[in-house]
Amino acid sequence: MDSFNDVLNAAKDYCRQRLVDATYNLYIDGLEPVSFEGSGEAVLSVRNDFICKIVNDRYLPLLCEAFKAVLGFDVSVQLVVPAAPAAQPTGQQEPPALPNGRYDLTFENFIKGSSNQFAYAAAQAVAANPSGAYNPLFIYGSSGLGKTHLLSAIQFEIHKTRPEFNIVYVDCEKFTNEIITAIRGGTTEAFRQKYRAADVLLVDDIQFIAGKESTQEEFFHTFNTLHAAGKQIVLASDRPAKEIKSLEERVRSRFEWGLTADIQPPDFETRVAIIRRKAELLGLDIPDDVAEFIANHLKNNIRQLEGAVKKLNAYYMLEGIAPVIGVAQNAIRDILSETQPVPVTIEKIVNEVARTYNVSAADIRGSKRHSNVSAARRTAIYIVREITGMSMEDIGKEFGGRDHSTIVYAMRVIERDLKKDSHLQEMVSDIIKNTTGS
Ligand code: ADP
Ligand code: MG
Repeated sequence: MDSFNDVLNAAKDYCRQRLVDATYNLYIDGLEPVSFEGSGEAVLSVRNDFICKIVNDRYLPLLCEAFKAVLGFDVSVQLVVPAAPAAQPTGQQEPPALPNGRYDLTFENFIKGSSNQFAYAAAQAVAANPSGAYNPLFIYGSSGLGKTHLLSAIQFEIHKTRPEFNIVYVDCEKFTNEIITAIRGGTTEAFRQKYRAADVLLVDDIQFIAGKESTQEEFFHTFNTLHAAGKQIVLASDRPAKEIKSLEERVRSRFEWGLTADIQPPDFETRVAIIRRKAELLGLDIPDDVAEFIANHLKNNIRQLEGAVKKLNAYYMLEGIAPVIGVAQNAIRDILSETQPVPVTIEKIVNEVARTYNVSAADIRGSKRHSNVSAARRTAIYIVREITGMSMEDIGKEFGGRDHSTIVYAMRVIERDLKKDSHLQEMVSDIIKNTTGS
């Protein structure tokens, strides 16, 4: 195997000279030798399905060429993804659970510009010295500007430099669901242990904590425990802490204890650089005029820039259509129509209200009359009416076949409550923001 290892290293070198660094590091560097048949079949392992697919789609010809250059004969290359190991070696933590299984969300692949360099520098500082001066790090910015990317990059980096660290990444919706389940099932102790054992805790989309009392309560104690023990906390939000209205003051003040960094939409140069990097990672050549054309038309959301590049890549890969302006025009049109705001569904509203009141969605639609369930139901009815403008009859059908007059009555009660209860007003406004994203 040693000699195969040497061959593989030489083949990797061959690839390195022909690829940009980011691509080489992501796709080729991590290939491991498995077996080599004298008949000319090299089996290599890749660390996950994502990388495997890209290497298969993109880099097999280059790898074959590399082996041929090293060995002087044709070699076929086969990739395998190892099954997850049954047990972790002691002392080593499992690799962090990455958001959406994305392995490309590293510092290296994060393009800096004036809009995001402060957040980037803060994230790097925290990754270099978790539990240092910036605790918590609170990153905020609109959707699609790179918050999850930075959280993920922090995880990668810390996992690399401190493999023994217990890094816990969670999005706030999951955190809330876990708390609710734990409270119902009497397992809050296990829940606490899980989060309080973290060396680094990253909570994504923390704005969803708005209005949720038991989540705020648990988060507060988790925060205090970790902070006092010098453990690093990183939070990401789509708005600054002061704009999350139904948030207890003691929780808000903790969000602001450390360092706050915002991310703004990228300027033109940064957008072009991001398009180039995304294309590079896919192995696609995009001409300058096409990159600039896309950057001129998609300005506020990096996820959309990436979507456009992926579309161009798909046209090229599937149909052999080169990325020219006309094709970019189609891609942009598709992206813009796909990202029209999805109509907010009643289900989404009911689920968010249910999480906020700590009741079940079925209860809200059902016939229970506990005061908490009734209050949640009224709030849900009110928000459905506000957002969708549905008729009282139709709303009644959605809420367990209630008749029109019941809905009218519920609306009257909540409108009266809203006038005198500022906490309820804030809660309703946060739920609307969290379900519509605006
Ligand atoms: P958010 O969490 O703020 O909604 P994400 O972190 O999910 O946004 O970013 C959306 C997409 O845009 C991701 O695929 C991410 O890799 C990409 N992205 C965002 N910012 C950058 C950047 N500065 N450089 C490269 N890619 C970026
Ligand atoms: Mg995100």
